[in-house]
Amino acid sequence: MQIFYGKVALMEYLSSIKTTNSSIGFVPTMGALHKGHQSLMLQSVKENDINVVSIFVNPTQFNNPEDLEKYPRNLEADILKIQEISPDIILFAPTVEDMYEGKTVSQSFDFDGLENKMEGQFRPGHFDGVGTIVKRLFEIVNPTKAYFGEKDFQQVQIVKKMVEKNHLPVTIVVCPIYREINNLAMSSRNERLTLQEREEAGIIHKILIEAKSKFISNSAQKTSEWVKNEFEKNKNFTLEYFEIADEETLSTCNRKYKNKKYRAFIAVFVNNVRLIDTISLN
Ligand code: AMP
Repeated sequence: MQIFYGKVALMEYLSSIKTTNSSIGFVPTMGALHKGHQSLMLQSVKENDINVVSIFVNPTQFNNPEDLEKYPRNLEADILKIQEISPDIILFAPTVEDMYEGKTVSQSFDFDGLENKMEGQFRPGHFDGVGTIVKRLFEIVNPTKAYFGEKDFQQVQIVKKMVEKNHLPVTIVVCPIYREINNLAMSSRNERLTLQEREEAGIIHKILIEAKSKFISNSAQKTSEWVKNEFEKNKNFTLEYFEIADEETLSTCNRKYKNKKYRAFIAVFVNNVRLIDTISLN
């Protein structure tokens, strides 16, 4: 398996193996890989000639220093997970110095307001960090298609907006949420939960499913109140936000329109571990 720790070496290698017709599939990650990441890799491998996975815990997208410090890192285990999908995948695992060249700050973006809701509201600066690193990675890898998980739906909309505004020649492919047996969305952060917390966290998806059915005959506001009450009953979970929003604009649904697509978004703390999930309501 080819592994690169620096951008120049990766770019040189890619240009040496690329032909005019070859497609490059790219899966950006922060490591601590799980089956959700592997499902993105599998789709990339099926659809492209050359495949690159990046592992980079991007400091500028963490608003909470403790979250950054405790973020799980295990490159050796990650390499094995990538090899399970294909030994031909190229791994790019750059250092912070290589990506930021001494200035670990993010560029400031205008994502037409998408950045101010939900994750943006509770994690100030998060999407500037995401935009900065994804743009840099795209410039290095130059992918034909890049694969992102629906779990981070707001991130997908942000990345699409960044691609559109910068006229980048890449197609963004959105992949379904891979879940554990109890339907908890797989996440690198799940490793920080105790077994019992991990088991109990299945309630997050269960509540989303019930909210979806409530939303058929109730307003967004009534549905949100019901969700808040459910979490108040449960002492081990602290709801940060539950929001029903327009899928396109991410603006809050104050009134239902028949021709719009809606989605529920949730962020919940289990002890100090922050989990997010989402579900389409149409
Ligand atoms: P991360 O390493 O958390 O930054 O995630 C890297 C990519 O994997 C992002 O596009 C995520 O949305 C995606 N991803 C994370 N968890 C899952 C999951 N459970 N199912 C599918 N994709 C996921």
